[in-house]
Amino acid sequence: MTRRVAVVGGGLAGITAALRCADAGCQVIVFEARQWLGGLTHSFHRGALRVDNGQHVFLRCCTSYLSLLRRLGVADRVELQPRLAIPVRAPGAQRPVWLRRTALPAPLHLAASLLRYQPLSILERVRFALAAAALRRVDPRSPATDEQSFGGWLRRHGQSDHAIAALWELVGVATLNSRADQASLSLAATVFQEGLLTDAAAADIGWSRVALRELHGDPALACLGAAGAEVRTGVTVRGLEPRGGGLTAGSAGGGLIAGSAGGGWQVISDGARTTVDRVILAVPPAAAEQLLPPCCLPLSPGWSQRLGGVPIVNLHVVLDRPVLDEPFVAGVDTPVQWVFDRTVQSGLEGGQYLAVSLSAADDLVDTPTAALRARFLPELAALLPAMREARVRDFFVTRERQATFRPAPGTAALRPPAVTAARGLFLAGAWTATGWPATMEGAVRSGAAAATALLQASPTDVPAVAV
Ligand SMILES: Cc1cc2nc3c(=O)[nH]c(=O)nc-3n(C[C@H](O)[C@H](O)[C@H](O)COP(=O)(O)OP(=O)(O)OC[C@H]3O[C@@H](n4cnc5c(N)ncnc54)[C@H](O)[C@@H]3O)c2cc1C
Repeated sequence: MTRRVAVVGGGLAGITAALRCADAGCQVIVFEARQWLGGLTHSFHRGALRVDNGQHVFLRCCTSYLSLLRRLGVADRVELQPRLAIPVRAPGAQRPVWLRRTALPAPLHLAASLLRYQPLSILERVRFALAAAALRRVDPRSPATDEQSFGGWLRRHGQSDHAIAALWELVGVATLNSRADQASLSLAATVFQEGLLTDAAAADIGWSRVALRELHGDPALACLGAAGAEVRTGVTVRGLEPRGGGLTAGSAGGGLIAGSAGGGWQVISDGARTTVDRVILAVPPAAAEQLLPPCCLPLSPGWSQRLGGVPIVNLHVVLDRPVLDEPFVAGVDTPVQWVFDRTVQSGLEGGQYLAVSLSAADDLVDTPTAALRARFLPELAALLPAMREARVRDFFVTRERQATFRPAPGTAALRPPAVTAARGLFLAGAWTATGWPATMEGAVRSGAAAATALLQASPTDVPAVAV
């Protein structure tokens, strides 16, 4: 039986879910409110410059994301380090210190770098190693772990404020989009265990060699078309209604069941109703809470607001000459977190285009551009001495207010799985219960999980029947 499936939301989660369902023979319709696919990973033009809404990187351990790139036929458009190497710069230092892995198995692969990591004292380096060994033993799936803050756990394991800022947060802020004190220990343990403490190659860093839209959105549109899916961009879904009657909620088999007598769902967009057998809702949390029929999730109203959002700000700096030799650099003892060379991706000819990525940017997201420029250009010049000679040709800012959900302690209880209590209605999105922080990998995993649940659900689940 060919099932008619609506996928609402064309970010990485929706793209993955839609492709999986189309590849399995479903008749898929993707509804995306914006004019393009790709969601939080998108690009725009500023004159001749191709600009991303924010720098994105991935790690070698992001296997689901890498398999999506292969499915989209764009795996050759990313760069993946053969071996982890992070240059770390402090203000005024002539040279970066390097965090590199060796050929040794994890966790010894980082030992040589850590022993030489000058931003920490020798005692701090030893204590770091002991805490890292203890972090390997933390169970990220335990609710008790999720209730704890990462910062609190680090302090209980001998980490000074300085060590937290100079090493743990160097990786943690960018991957969690949170300072250690505000982050769930579960999510932090997942990031460090998956990335740094288990498999030596896992944290090799990857990035796109093209603008994000050329990596995700446009290839996805082409692939979905080739797989027989229909993509409706510029269409905002306003409601989801079970077909053939009012929604009821009851309790059966230990869970709430919502459904209708007629079977399937109606997807309501401006002026149109589309009838489908099943729906994957792959929108951000606030939109999901608005669209989900009552009683679909065991969460009390307002859950999406409690899950919250954290901004990421990118400062875009176009210079008349190259000032950074490496593809990226991380900052220590400076408000500059990570700086990326965007020259190739942007199509800039002559000069250099840098993006300064600022995560956990609650205190910066409303700062005017002029103030950000006045504060950050001197900080950048202190990190990159060649910048003192350079002329800034352009400076602009992108602000993503809801870049990720807030990965605070206790968040796990607010992240629902793919299967809802409404038959035929599934959830996807980086914010759902993937165990990962809000990342591209999490988004792709969630989309794959929703498609798998949909495809495995017994055909007798359609039509949905009120119990
Ligand atoms: C600046 C920035 C930097 C980041 N850096 C990284 C990084 O380095 N590495 C990493 O792994 N991750 C990073 N992330 C996170 C990553 O981009 C996201 O986790 C991921 O893209 C989320 O995908 P998604 O499909 O779950 O959600 P989204 O991308 O939010 O997709 C949801 C889609 O639903 C659509 N939609 C909403 N409501 C409706 C409606 N009613 N009807 C129809 N469509 C609707 C939206 O328009 C959107 O396209 C970053 C995010 C940002 C913003």
